Amino acid sequence: MKSQSTELHARLIGHTHNATSRKSEQEFWDDLVFSFLRECPESPEAKRIEKLLSLLTSAQHHLDEIHRLLGNAGAEKSVPKFLENHRKLEQAKRAYYGAVRDLDKAFKRYRWRSFITGDLEGIRRKLGYGLQSANPDVVREYATADLLLEKLKEPGAIGRFRNCAECRQWFYAATSHQQFCTDACRRRNTARNPDFREKRRVYMRERYRPLQKELDKSSRASAKETRPNSAKGKGNVHLQTR
Ligand SMILES: [Zn+2]
Repeated sequence: MKSQSTELHARLIGHTHNATSRKSEQEFWDDLVFSFLRECPESPEAKRIEKLLSLLTSAQHHLDEIHRLLGNAGAEKSVPKFLENHRKLEQAKRAYYGAVRDLDKAFKRYRWRSFITGDLEGIRRKLGYGLQSANPDVVREYATADLLLEKLKEPGAIGRFRNCAECRQWFYAATSHQQFCTDACRRRNTARNPDFREKRRVYMRERYRPLQKELDKSSRASAKETRPNSAKGKGNVHLQTR
């Protein structure tokens, strides 16, 4: 157990330094955290990691909202609109500071140990995990908490942790507009979308079926010309559906 935990620890630390060079950011988080949340969703470690992610992303959401409303404040011309903006701003501030307090509580359970390290670039203070447990899931939880705190230093990075719009599982978005964890989820969602189904129905009725009929007719006619006795429908051409 101990060596397994040490190995995981080394792997996670290695990841910390080389996350972007060794793998894409998306794969890195999937490998470290999201695969664990999918496989052991009921473990206390997974539940606490989920809570950290939820609190961080919700705090970030409220903070973005505050900045948006502050931007609006000067532009509102009418008094009622200005007051409405002000009300929303106060609401967003309350939600944001509430989330920050919850985050403080959630992060309090982690113990960090400060130590000094040095190389040719200089002497620095570093933080290590102050944990006794050899349980690899606990090490993973610490590594996630540590990396999430590091992520706070990168502007906009917390907003990239998202729940897939289709399967609701966590993923790290490679681009700012990515809503789905995989292509499979994106396709499933599009296929169920009423807009897409309506477009497909109209396409089938107005374009595909008349064209198919036309092609059937002309292939039957040409079959008659070349082989007057050939079986009906033998030379049919079928369109590829979308
Ligand atoms: Zn998904």
